[in-house]
Amino acid sequence: MMNAQRNFDSFLQAIHAIPMQALEKLAELYEQLDHDIAQRKPICNTSGRCCKFEAWGHRLYVSTLELAAFQHITEVETKAKPFTDALRSGITFPLPLYMEHGEFSPGCPWQMDGLCTARAARPLGCRIYFCDTTAESWQQERYEHYHQKIVALHEEFQIPYRYMEWRQALALLNQQ
Ligand code: SF4
Repeated sequence: MMNAQRNFDSFLQAIHAIPMQALEKLAELYEQLDHDIAQRKPICNTSGRCCKFEAWGHRLYVSTLELAAFQHITEVETKAKPFTDALRSGITFPLPLYMEHGEFSPGCPWQMDGLCTARAARPLGCRIYFCDTTAESWQQERYEHYHQKIVALHEEFQIPYRYMEWRQALALLNQQ
């Protein structure tokens, strides 16, 4: 138990130690990626149902650097928003992640009324995944391509690499 707590603590320290330059490089990569995906013109047919992971039958995974960027961007955005907008999104850390019996609630906690309330911060998997069947021919290859670039950023900035299920990763941020 003590070891688990030490692991959490050192992971959170590593997240806090990530330099702004690494976050900026990831932001540039997201920009290239968004442009790349937009050129392919995939269509969203199911209005956010893919963010209900259990119902959709898939999972979202995230790396250390993406998680740090997600936290950074959502915090900056929440602070910058007028109070009423912040209330509308209504989400901030710590997140309401669990159902009464201790299991994760179904789906991503950042989705409200079928919409993503964290679009600017969403990780690689959210940017690439489309239910459009024409996307099947390229999305796996594009995911691998950009994921390798993100792995390389971890190496460049000596960031400990972890690859975590999305809600488990968000739960780590809740420990702060
Ligand atoms: S971050 Fe946004 S796009 Fe990604 S799973 Fe959550 S609600 Fe969906």
